[in-house]
Amino acid sequence: MRWAIPQYFKSSSRFLTYTVVARALRAAGHELTDDVTDCDVVGFSACDVMDYLDLVKLRAETRKPILVGGSYAFNYKSAILYSDMVWVGEVYEMAECADIDALRAHPSCYVPGKPNVRASTRIDWGDVPIAQIAPKKCYYWGGVGCKNKCRFCFTSWTHAHQVNSKARIDAAKRVAAKEKKHLMIVSNEYEGGDGGRTMDMMLTDYVRFPVSASMIRCGIEFATEASRREMGKRITDDDIYKAIQKMNVDGVAMRWFHIAGYDPLADWERYIEMLCGMLSRHPNKRIVHLMFNNLQYQNYTPLYTRRRDIDPARYIDVTVTRRWYDQLRQYSRHVLVGAPSPFQHVACRMGVELSTERAQVDYWLSKLKNAKGKLTVDEAYRALFSTGVLDTPMLRLNMRTGEITEGEHGA
Ligand code: SF4
Repeated sequence: MRWAIPQYFKSSSRFLTYTVVARALRAAGHELTDDVTDCDVVGFSACDVMDYLDLVKLRAETRKPILVGGSYAFNYKSAILYSDMVWVGEVYEMAECADIDALRAHPSCYVPGKPNVRASTRIDWGDVPIAQIAPKKCYYWGGVGCKNKCRFCFTSWTHAHQVNSKARIDAAKRVAAKEKKHLMIVSNEYEGGDGGRTMDMMLTDYVRFPVSASMIRCGIEFATEASRREMGKRITDDDIYKAIQKMNVDGVAMRWFHIAGYDPLADWERYIEMLCGMLSRHPNKRIVHLMFNNLQYQNYTPLYTRRRDIDPARYIDVTVTRRWYDQLRQYSRHVLVGAPSPFQHVACRMGVELSTERAQVDYWLSKLKNAKGKLTVDEAYRALFSTGVLDTPMLRLNMRTGEITEGEHGA
């Protein structure tokens, strides 16, 4: 088939996903073009809800059949509203489809009216390329999914946990070293890093093991030990204190990810006070960067069962993170605090992802850019209910077979 993949040709960085897709399609004998009007099918990779805006533009540019893939495709009833087919899962079985009919008939391809979808989970690890994304930087897939399965983590509930072999990863490292390129192994924090300059790892592992890196990235996520335990991240306050002490010994900077919107604000105030106390006793020499996101209830995750409990009063904005920054700066000169997107933007993201009808997705897409300027917090909250997107049934993926079915996790 003649596949148009405009993102692959336009992307200056040769983003990893496009490179993997292009390699798999070419290896299976397909032809690639950037011409969306002279092809058999147009492929569009959507990794994030913000990509939906480009999908709408693409729909206006071509009458050729559009197939959406990428991690957003797990929201296939949303993605189909501006496309003709949605490929759910990995690319390798898709590449084996010789024509449009084979694609449409495949169990991993959603088309309107198809009752069941099976996510394609087969990864031909030997065919995964090292993707060059900048003159001196390349990426390589170390694994997908995560065996930890935190209750909020979309990736771990939509991808069976699989890892590339150590032999292949070592071979990729040798190739990168020979060509003097910085290689990043893309995996998840549970697997730990590859010994590169930046490592993603669990904080509980960081405090236990020696590291050789300049930046360690960890998800702390929630404000209290109880919330973290409930969500699957068993990080104690003591672990956090140990990490602050160890980072001085290791000479590393740290970036910690947090999710606001679940714990009451008072719990976060106590968390920040706790950090102030720890930093005053052990002043850090390298940066501690506290990043905050606001919680997005996503389908497939067990937390989605609680979507109707969404409480705007628990969401934070830049005025809160600025205040925390000022507070922390009294105890440490090496601290940064990143602000999250406001509640209105999170509501729009949820709205687009959970849409199953054209009127729903059009409403939320119209608010997605500059959501704070278009909706008050109260309007965004009420629209989540009035547009019906919170009624979108929960989907569950069988990790062994890839079958996707409707049905709630145990609340
Ligand atoms: S440890 Fe990280 S990657 Fe793994 S399930 Fe939890 S949040 Fe997701």
